Amino acid sequence: MTPPPARWILHADMDAFFASVEQRDHPELRGRPVIVGATSARGVVAAASYEARRYGVHSAMPGFRAHALCPQGVFLPSDIAHYAAVSAEIHAVFARFTPLIEPVALDEAFLDITGSVGLFGGPGALAHQLKQAVLKQTELRVSVGLAPNKLVAKIACSLGKPDGLRIVHPHDVERLLADLPVRRLWGVGPVLGEQLDALGIRTCGELAAYPAEELGRVLGERAAELRDFARGTDSRPVEPDREPKSYGEENTFETDVRARDTVTAVITAHAEAVARRVRRDGYRGRTVTVKVKLGRARGQRVSRGDGGVSEPDYPLLTRSRTLRQATDDDARIREVAIALWDAAAIEEPIRLLGVSLSGLEPAASRQLPLFPDKKERLGAALDAIQDRFGRDAIGRAVATPHKITHGRQKKRGES
Ligand SMILES: [Mg+2]
Repeated sequence: MTPPPARWILHADMDAFFASVEQRDHPELRGRPVIVGATSARGVVAAASYEARRYGVHSAMPGFRAHALCPQGVFLPSDIAHYAAVSAEIHAVFARFTPLIEPVALDEAFLDITGSVGLFGGPGALAHQLKQAVLKQTELRVSVGLAPNKLVAKIACSLGKPDGLRIVHPHDVERLLADLPVRRLWGVGPVLGEQLDALGIRTCGELAAYPAEELGRVLGERAAELRDFARGTDSRPVEPDREPKSYGEENTFETDVRARDTVTAVITAHAEAVARRVRRDGYRGRTVTVKVKLGRARGQRVSRGDGGVSEPDYPLLTRSRTLRQATDDDARIREVAIALWDAAAIEEPIRLLGVSLSGLEPAASRQLPLFPDKKERLGAALDAIQDRFGRDAIGRAVATPHKITHGRQKKRGES
């Protein structure tokens, strides 16, 4: 049998993207700790410059904590519409190197460059040219990881940050992963991490070497894929036309939370983030889901008769409501999510909270100004577009409705 052709997958991830855009646009912020998205104590950090990271600030951190760690930080509101425009520029640069691009986030993408490495003088030369091209076009730095598959490319990229260029050849994959903590693997969160800990598995090497049958007994269906990942095996293709099934945001609290104020603040942040992403990608959704993980573990870690270990688990609750009208509006998503939270009547502290929107449909089917109560917002959106793109942009924007939804974003300086 002939082996399958070797692939080259490139993972590109902009360094501290939102914060870097702000520092680029405002030279006086360069060299200073810039924190985006936590302008109020109730906000959540969307991005932290490397200067801010030295104080321990990182993305997804609650605003009050970021303010405590770095009181001298420059806290800026997220200007997502602007970052999305920069992101589009970056993706246009990527497209010079391959048509096979799978966007993962505004600042992150997978590129299958198998077919084009020859044109650019090899994988390393291509990666170098891509980094230079992004820098020249946007004055922003991108870290790049190159490997035979997505899993290893992403790991390589993260190991090289910032401004990294890391190539992992097929024969180096095993050595790279051997000492890597299992928690760096795709899909290994805190709970699974603890389960693996209990088995004495800390590194990918240990996981790869663990007896398959026993692993299967403890982890069930996930065992096989996890073991493959630990060996650096990942056959998932780069999917350029990935259609999202849902958009979700979630966070795990540093300490368990029960106060309704905190919960509603986090739901608000999640609803805004979900709505932003949905609008950016031109969708609306009908089903709002709230996901909650309770703080108190059920059960103890005990050895079972069959030699496996039964782990404590944190009960997961989900509550959904399907709306008659699909929405991409953060206020609507927030309202439904808070109603779901209240109806769930959870009395005990929680460790994780998530909000998602599913049942997606393209926003292009939107009936534009028919609903009187939406007129005001639409007007504001048009103003925002004019501010951003100039007066003659309006005609174009109306022809492509999702442009309008970009304009609904907060303008810089609004609170
Ligand atoms: Mg990034």
